[in-house]
Amino acid sequence: MNRQITIAGGGLAGLSLGIALRLRGVQVRLIEAASYPRHRVCGEFISGIAETELDALGIRDLFANAKRHTTTSWFDGERPMWSRTLPAPAYGLSRYFLDAALAERFTKLGGELRCGERFEGDDEGIVWAAGRMKGESEWLGLKAHFDDLALEADLEIHLNDGGYIGLTRVENDRVNACGLFRRREAVSGGHALIAATRDAGLIRLAERLCDARPVEGSLKGVSHFSLGWQRERDNGRVTIGDSAAMIPPFTGNGMTMAFQSALAAVEPLVRWSAGVIEWDEASVKIRFAHRRLFARRLGWARLLQSLLLHRLGRKFAAMLIALGVVRFETLYRKVR
Ligand SMILES: Cc1cc2nc3c(=O)[nH]c(=O)nc-3n(C[C@H](O)[C@H](O)[C@H](O)COP(=O)(O)OP(=O)(O)OC[C@H]3O[C@@H](n4cnc5c(N)ncnc54)[C@H](O)[C@@H]3O)c2cc1C
Repeated sequence: MNRQITIAGGGLAGLSLGIALRLRGVQVRLIEAASYPRHRVCGEFISGIAETELDALGIRDLFANAKRHTTTSWFDGERPMWSRTLPAPAYGLSRYFLDAALAERFTKLGGELRCGERFEGDDEGIVWAAGRMKGESEWLGLKAHFDDLALEADLEIHLNDGGYIGLTRVENDRVNACGLFRRREAVSGGHALIAATRDAGLIRLAERLCDARPVEGSLKGVSHFSLGWQRERDNGRVTIGDSAAMIPPFTGNGMTMAFQSALAAVEPLVRWSAGVIEWDEASVKIRFAHRRLFARRLGWARLLQSLLLHRLGRKFAAMLIALGVVRFETLYRKVR
């Protein structure tokens, strides 16, 4: 028996699952609403993924052109908070490149990819990888690529009460700037990311972005999403990636969670496809695996994001780290 899997959504989670299943001989149809290549709202800083996990998904070689990041500097408004060497190197790779490369790999392996179609429906054999679920929230996510922008570290994070923005280099030495802002009625005029940065009180950073060259077509925005487990609205579906859970973006771990959640789904889905287990059993196994992998880091990320978006919280965190009471490296690991 070789029952077909249908994947709804061709972002990182859906495509990496599709590739891993094709490598194990499973028939896969993947339906993607958009097409490739395309820019996505994402910080494009990939941390906490092991090479063995990328190998198991069959996608490690696609990271060959990625930047390898080793340093980070954090700022409270305009004031430096801390600069550190990362506990482990991270990747900087654009979604414009990565999603298209994954799609190409999937089709080369014999996967059926249908672009420009929105999937609807619920049945056995369907995996939802359609990204963040629509919901009410205060958040606005914005991103754009810039040329001619110097950075003080491989990853800069600028925090304020109104949100935060991360800057990191991707392939071809471009800088990706991506922020999460508390949503306002409208952002002030001009380039939306620069305007939101200014509105969030990050004036010096907004000036740096103004002096750089925005890459045409790279400005993207998202709103109406909520962070954390998405399960209340998944109607018992099998979900992976952001459709399962969305970690606060400051962690730079959402893409890793997309890959890891896909990997956790591979074995149960292969067994369902072969007729060894029923769909309900596969579904339960995937949910349990996600809870085991992600519950702790989601809890820590929520707590730390609340702290870092509060003026006194940032001061408190900076003081604890400066005094050596808490190590940056420890907190970094807690959200991975
Ligand atoms: C502001 C911000 C900054 C971030 N920064 C980082 C970072 O620096 N590092 C990091 O690791 N993570 C970051 N993330 C998180 C990361 O972008 C996501 O975790 C990751 O994109 C999840 O991948 P996914 O495949 O689950 O979803 P997506 O990449 O969103 O893919 C979902 C796909 O499903 C398609 N789709 C939707 N509905 C349907 C449908 N009905 N039928 C067919 N197709 C459909 C969409 O077109 C899309 O292609 C950030 C997120 C935000 C919002």
